[in-house]
Amino acid sequence: MIFDSHAHMDTEEFNEDRAEVLERIHSGKISYVLNPGVDLTSSRDAVKLAEEYPWIYAAVAYHPHETRHLSLDILDEIEALAAHPKVKAIGEIGLDYYWDHSPRDLQQFWFRQQIRLAEKLEMPIIIHDREAHGDIYQILMEESAFDKIKVLFHCYSGSAEFAKQLREKDCYFSIAGPVTYKNNKKAAGILAEIPLDRMLVETDAPFLTPEPFRGKRNDPSYIDHTVQKVAELKGLSFEEVAAVTSENAKRFFGIEE
Ligand SMILES: [Zn+2]
Repeated sequence: MIFDSHAHMDTEEFNEDRAEVLERIHSGKISYVLNPGVDLTSSRDAVKLAEEYPWIYAAVAYHPHETRHLSLDILDEIEALAAHPKVKAIGEIGLDYYWDHSPRDLQQFWFRQQIRLAEKLEMPIIIHDREAHGDIYQILMEESAFDKIKVLFHCYSGSAEFAKQLREKDCYFSIAGPVTYKNNKKAAGILAEIPLDRMLVETDAPFLTPEPFRGKRNDPSYIDHTVQKVAELKGLSFEEVAAVTSENAKRFFGIEE
């Protein structure tokens, strides 16, 4: 059984067949899904899904793309949602300097505010980092995040060197579909720096579909291909990677059963 630590099942891509997909994946290999929020609506929808399905958990927050729409009043509403017992993290938060959908100074301001919220609530954070490794690290250091809360880099996309640096801060790393892409030559070197007890797996559905389904809508059942690739690169069995990453995800999110 596999814990998909990051899937956006609330998105419109699943509006036609969400219940069917959820039924199919949970009767297959998926034991748990963590559905992160990207804004207030998706955070509310993630909580709703978590209320409906015992095996779905939620995270709530504003994605860096959406921070131009965030205000202190809205952040209060995110904080109120975070009190729900099925909400297990603040995420996804961070910086995205690839798309720059929100101005960088706003992204940084709200990244800090949401780290502080997580610290106040003593909740782990899920980080979205795209081409912003240096600033992400600096802000996490300035906010003492590594000392105060658990930190997960979702769809880890940094170098082997950065992974080493984060490993020393006891970070968690989530591996997604791009590890299966044929042009991903750095994956083995990066995975070598990530300790097995700090590794999670995810689909980031409906995005980042692994090979051989790249281009189609992603859903959590495709996580097999990511687990298989991680197993190959780490010299482990599929079953071992599935079991250990599931245990890690439960420990990271504080899920007891
Ligand atoms: Zn995501």
